[in-house]
Amino acid sequence: MLGYPRIGRRRELKKAVEAFWAGKTSVDELEATARELRLATVRRLVDLGLGADDASVPGSFSYYDQVLDVAASLGAVPSRFASLTDDAGRLDLAGYFTVARGQGDDAPLEMTKWFDTNYHYLVPEIGPDTPIRFVDDRVVREFVEAKEAGVVTRPVVVGPVTFLALSKAADDAPAGYSPLDRLDDVVAAYADLLRALAAAGAPWVQLDEPILVTDSVDVPFTELAAAVESAYRTLATDLRPVSNPGSLPTETSGSGAIPGSTQDARPAILVATPFGGLETPVDADGGTHDFLATLAGTDVEAIAIDAVRADLPDSPYDDLVSKTLVVGAIDGHNIWRADLSTKLDVLDAARDLGAGAVAVGTSTSLLHVPHDVEDEVFAEPGTASGTTLDPRLRDWLAFADQKVGEVATLARALTEGRDAVAAEIEASRAAVTSRSEASGVVVPAVRERAAALTDADFARGDYAERAAAQQERLNLPPLPTTTIGSFPQTPEIRRARAQWTKGDLSDADYTVAMREEIARVVALQEELGLDVLVHGEPERNDMVQYFAEHLDGFAVTANGWVQSYGSRCVRPPILWGDVTRPAPITVEWSAYTASLTEKPVKGMLTGPVTILAWSFVRDDQPLGDTANQVGLALRDEIADLEATGIGIVQVDEPALRELLPLRKADQPAYLDWSVGSFRLATSGVAAATQIHTHLCYSEFGEVIGAIDGLDADVTSVEAARSRMEIVPELRDAGYARGIGPGVYDIHSPRIPSTEEVTELLELAVKSIDPKVVWVNPDCGLKTRRYEETVPSLEHLVAAAQAVRATLG
Ligand code: GLN
Ligand code: ZN
Repeated sequence: MLGYPRIGRRRELKKAVEAFWAGKTSVDELEATARELRLATVRRLVDLGLGADDASVPGSFSYYDQVLDVAASLGAVPSRFASLTDDAGRLDLAGYFTVARGQGDDAPLEMTKWFDTNYHYLVPEIGPDTPIRFVDDRVVREFVEAKEAGVVTRPVVVGPVTFLALSKAADDAPAGYSPLDRLDDVVAAYADLLRALAAAGAPWVQLDEPILVTDSVDVPFTELAAAVESAYRTLATDLRPVSNPGSLPTETSGSGAIPGSTQDARPAILVATPFGGLETPVDADGGTHDFLATLAGTDVEAIAIDAVRADLPDSPYDDLVSKTLVVGAIDGHNIWRADLSTKLDVLDAARDLGAGAVAVGTSTSLLHVPHDVEDEVFAEPGTASGTTLDPRLRDWLAFADQKVGEVATLARALTEGRDAVAAEIEASRAAVTSRSEASGVVVPAVRERAAALTDADFARGDYAERAAAQQERLNLPPLPTTTIGSFPQTPEIRRARAQWTKGDLSDADYTVAMREEIARVVALQEELGLDVLVHGEPERNDMVQYFAEHLDGFAVTANGWVQSYGSRCVRPPILWGDVTRPAPITVEWSAYTASLTEKPVKGMLTGPVTILAWSFVRDDQPLGDTANQVGLALRDEIADLEATGIGIVQVDEPALRELLPLRKADQPAYLDWSVGSFRLATSGVAAATQIHTHLCYSEFGEVIGAIDGLDADVTSVEAARSRMEIVPELRDAGYARGIGPGVYDIHSPRIPSTEEVTELLELAVKSIDPKVVWVNPDCGLKTRRYEETVPSLEHLVAAAQAVRATLG
């Protein structure tokens, strides 16, 4: 396992951390809970078949984030938080959380997506003067803690090159400075960490270097390779591997002090490279760089490659002869049970790569999948209420614990031969076969409809005609004002939904409660003077799960929690079969909303790419085919909305950027199918029906062409924090349709003043034709409270009026 979920089977860590934040528990109580959770985890992994003394159990705990953990252990804290560290440069746990979450005017570290997952890490800020020393040995203490409980773990730490490549330059860094300039300092601190681990008796350490599988690093590949060579020369060559860790002294640093060992011993090093292949083109001429060759040339003892996302290399590497190649054959990033015989074929092929030994593992950390299929409730469809899973799925799924079993079985086959696990191989084959043959996996009508699609189904008419027809129908003022969809999800709304889910509130009463909420939200928007109204999305638990619950082909879990960032977890739906829409989903809510007002009401849907991105998706057909199935279901929904008289439909695609492949060579194909599925969903409407889309959570500069390609009539996009940066970018790319750059940062409780909003809006109308500009917040308001929302929207409307007046 390259890592294991750390939030707890019942989200124990989340609850403990949040109780600490709320001041309800002490730091000692939090640490005690975390310790219990860590020990339960390592014992569980041993029960599932990992060795208690061979370092196969990963030590991958984190209170918040593994990148922040490195920054904390190096004391690499931005100067605005310097006062939180002690004389040694160390953060206490409260300080650590403050760096993650901010305090007053001191913004937290920025948060961004971890490779192509939905996990968010914290971006360290590293300048020329940022302190970098090995100051916090939490990793060592956790190793000792497990060892004393009888399990020798393999501490898992983000590697030095990836740590710096993911960092951003501190604000005061000079031009041309790159965090990688600090490589020597960082590596020196890692060397101290490795010495401390060796002194504590750790036989192995895992250093994660996934940066080597992406094309999105700022430095040329030759420089990145040089960084790898230099870092691992210091760590692997200059330090001496402990050959017999059992004989090392085991006294520890329980006091929190760093062992002042002068010996140059280190644990054996496993470098892991999850999320993709190690080979990449260097330049336009087709030259390639091979980071597996780079790693093979170092003195590390083992290299873990992702054999799910990438094919095995074609030819052997001489330098691997002294190393173990850990083949990530079991998918750490999706939840399907593997066909073990095909995985054994991969392992067999890997034996030809020249490695001294071949071992088996997961392709990525299991952080990205839920704990255990056995935590779900299985019941025949229609026989039970709530989140129950179709019993057929039990056999098809492998969550983290099942994957541990798969890896253990494959490991036995490696050492004892296939015959030793013949029964397990057979069972896995049978499960995969039963899935492929099950009803609902392939629905002929869906296949026929998809096969009959033509280019015309992906295209709307001329934009100028559409714009004229829409203006005539909607008659909107210049700089029309609107919101992104959701209004605050109040405690009353959550309570009503919880009661309804439990069966304590009838369907009819729940509908009444939601309708009352919608009526309140409509009245508020009219009072505020917004131009295009929404219903506020009170009936949605989550923008993806809601649709998954209403479409066939999806399942939703009861306990399938996955960490998204910090203490936040999500339960991604499982898209297992062909997608169909048994009945209209949003139409009654939108029609009811429209009946309450004379103003235009926007229908609100989640787009196909985002539904895929935030679900576990079937792996038995190309993603583009699955996306088109979702697109067709949404197309039908939009047709129904249109038929009830809804004139504007917004299809949210906040995850459009997130699924962008890590290698540039794979990006055009992705953009092609993702944009295509959106167009398929939205191209069935009349010219006078206005299609909006909404993008957020990323910088979209890299996919400007795709935004244009969506061909939406209006695109709202997060822009407040970047001060409208995207607007000139869109203009320069020739984008000429409606654009609503967010003028209110809804991620913060701050209420922007009318002047601030006016200023942002003026920036926008200066950089693009004011005729195409819309005025809206950055994103939905569901996480905000009404105390913040109402004055902020008042200021937004006032700013729109002020700027309108200047347009003449
Ligand atoms: N319509 C959604 C909302 O307002 C959009 C959310 C999002 O972009 N993440 O909540
Ligand atoms: Zn958004």
